[in-house]
Amino acid sequence: MTVICVIIKLMIVVFTFVVSLCLGSFATCLLHRLHFDEKGIASGRSHCPACHVKLTARELIPVFSWLIQKGQCRHCRAKISFWYPLIEIGFAVTLTFFALIFQKSFDLYWILISVFFLLLLFFQDVRYLEVDRRIAWPAIFIALAWSFFREGSSSFWIGGVIGLSFYAVQYFCSRKKWVGAGDMDLGLLMGLLLGWPQILVGLFFAYVLGLFWTLPLLVLKKLTLKSAVPMGGFLIPATLVMLLWGEGILEIYWSMIGI
Ligand SMILES: [Zn+2]
Repeated sequence: MTVICVIIKLMIVVFTFVVSLCLGSFATCLLHRLHFDEKGIASGRSHCPACHVKLTARELIPVFSWLIQKGQCRHCRAKISFWYPLIEIGFAVTLTFFALIFQKSFDLYWILISVFFLLLLFFQDVRYLEVDRRIAWPAIFIALAWSFFREGSSSFWIGGVIGLSFYAVQYFCSRKKWVGAGDMDLGLLMGLLLGWPQILVGLFFAYVLGLFWTLPLLVLKKLTLKSAVPMGGFLIPATLVMLLWGEGILEIYWSMIGI
């Protein structure tokens, strides 16, 4: 009995992983089309960006096609970016991990949809230095809809207002120099997902992460103080960590500042 249980559980994990890989593959395609503003954002067959040959099913297997073709197009030998397998694996690992952690939660589907959008925004900001409203606004709408079903709804609305204000103040005070409009969307989304007071810890955590990432690059002169830094690259990992372990982290945070 237990052996069968283990096998069934393993099959569910593998199935979740494969579905997440395919979602990651869809994401790479979606991000590419959004960036180059191609028509038919979610439809139309995939093609090689260099020679425009339509790709066959064999060339579209997540990660494996890239490995087998050694990161090249089979037709024109153009290099296929390492971002493709990286994004696919990023989606597969993160979504499967969240599905395992929250498998018994009533909020499982809300969480997985939110994580899917967070990953889209993360990879878009890190790869293209963009936060597209065509992704951010549906994500905000979903987070807002979810907040109505969560215990203590108002704390999530307060979180949203704080996240939005934090970036709106910087945006308008610096006349768009310090942060972009997309960062306001990310702040609002983060607040709606984490709620009050988790949003504060999330922001703090994001900036600590940002500091650890940018300081060595500044010292090595790979970055200057004027370089554009993708805030989403720090805000979104912080949001994911807070969604996973927010309550525990909050307790540690309170004890650190002596409350
Ligand atoms: Zn090609």
